[in-house]
Amino acid sequence: ADYWKSQPRKFCQYCKCWIADNKPSIEFHERGKNHKENVAAKISEIKKKSIEKAKQEKRMCKQFAAMEEAAIKAYEEDLKRMERDHPQEGRKAPTGRLRRHKSKKTPARSPKSQRSVLG
Ligand SMILES: [Zn+2]
Repeated sequence: ADYWKSQPRKFCQYCKCWIADNKPSIEFHERGKNHKENVAAKISEIKKKSIEKAKQEKRMCKQFAAMEEAAIKAYEEDLKRMERDHPQEGRKAPTGRLRRHKSKKTPARSPKSQRSVLG
């Protein structure tokens, strides 16, 4: 008979199959080896994807960090060269600009002035 057709069914997204929507059937299905394998496969797939995503983000971070490091190095070398080339330019002590960020009163308000130093 076709009486089972009218019964509510539940879709198992792991197994891509329909099971009868009642507790014993669901429990029986979820205890099944096939279902457990499918769940494990799904979880490992999700993990793999998230790891790959994290790797990608890490790689991008590394790139940005390298770029930033290079920029800072160039900036520091510029400062050194300026110190060397113009040691007496202004009596304000040219390294003061670098050390200023120690004091919290002036948190480098204008990045424009820094940029002009960078060139
Ligand atoms: Zn299943």
